[in-house]
Amino acid sequence: MRSPGSGCHTASMDPREQVERFSAHNYHPLPVVITHGEGSWVTDIDGKKYLDLLSAYSALNFGHRHPRLIEAAKAQLDRLTLTSRAFHNDQLGAFAQGLSELTGKEMVLPMNSGAEAVETAIKTARKWGYLVKGVAADAARVVVADGNFHGRTTTIVSFSTDPDARDDFGPFTPGFDVVGYGDADALRAAITPSTVAFLVEPIQGEAGVLLPPDGYLKAAREICRENNVLFIADEIQSGMGRTGKTFAVEWEDVVPDMYVMGKALGGGIYPVSAVAADSDVLGVFKPGEHGSTFGGNPLGAAIGTQVIAMLKTGEFQERSRVMGDHMLDRLRAEAPSTVAEIRGRGLWAGVQLHPGQESARSRCERLMVDGVLAKDTHETTIRLAPPLVIEQDDLDLAIDKLLKVLH
Ligand SMILES: *Cc1c(COP(=O)(O)O)cnc(C)c1O
Repeated sequence: MRSPGSGCHTASMDPREQVERFSAHNYHPLPVVITHGEGSWVTDIDGKKYLDLLSAYSALNFGHRHPRLIEAAKAQLDRLTLTSRAFHNDQLGAFAQGLSELTGKEMVLPMNSGAEAVETAIKTARKWGYLVKGVAADAARVVVADGNFHGRTTTIVSFSTDPDARDDFGPFTPGFDVVGYGDADALRAAITPSTVAFLVEPIQGEAGVLLPPDGYLKAAREICRENNVLFIADEIQSGMGRTGKTFAVEWEDVVPDMYVMGKALGGGIYPVSAVAADSDVLGVFKPGEHGSTFGGNPLGAAIGTQVIAMLKTGEFQERSRVMGDHMLDRLRAEAPSTVAEIRGRGLWAGVQLHPGQESARSRCERLMVDGVLAKDTHETTIRLAPPLVIEQDDLDLAIDKLLKVLH
């Protein structure tokens, strides 16, 4: 018999089962259900705490719920959330100017997801190719790198070299040439008079935090300049302080023709992405030729403006360098023989395991049980990207626990 006041309660399903049953299986999350986050820490439905060493693939560079970002978001929620670009709002101007100053580029074009910003970069490069470079109609080509990850749209997976990302999604968008990542000679050889851009991650994140050989980005920059080809840096994951510089290209003193940004640009609160370039490039757009209903909305702009202000002080970049050196030094000194290589820059590392042993996934599951969240990529790599605000004691605790599961 039902007791009074109990209503028509159905036994609530486990959120993991709910997702498994009602959401497409396009992800394979670790079996942790997070309810709260603060700084580098998250709490699950049972009240257990974990250190977050993934930072939502670097979207949470400033940690969970950074007070400054939360305050900006709340203040904007109470005033205005969306106008569309049919009207002006009072937030986009400051965001655009701030991002222009941060990148040193004359113009920005705001979108939402990273993939949309990459699409924007490709469309811009093609249009620039036709209007400025003088490429024949519909002949434009973009060179990309083997092992790339630039997002999930149909056009972007058209030039992926990862079968999981690409297979069964054809027919594909033509106009892309794939060259070896880190191979400047291959880039030079792939360029034709119809090439409009070279699109590259300064460090390949999804591929397992792969750093190209020293001098590669600088050489690629020069090759692009010589051939009147746009150098487009996808800094969606590597930028916003992650590697210890605002942008990873700065490690080689490279200035790209276009920056592609996303993830942490929205402070881990809201999707905000953008491209930045000078007006001879981004000036190719006229009204009606590109856009997005939510792109440049006042909520995202208000958050993004705070992100830019926080990056301008350099303190997060500095933290990433100092803590990152500590993390990489410790891992290199203490990793057991199961580990083939520790790669990384700043607070960003790929722990490469020798093949033919317990998988990276299984080790991440054990690490989770021990209160640390990290994510495998490609069977044999554990990727680490702690929030840049992580305390040294917390980082050391996480490294201790990681070293245990590496044995
Ligand atoms: C995450 C990522 C993207 C795609 O961003 P989404 O917001 O997931 O669409 C593109 N490029 C790089 C380098 C990324 O890491």
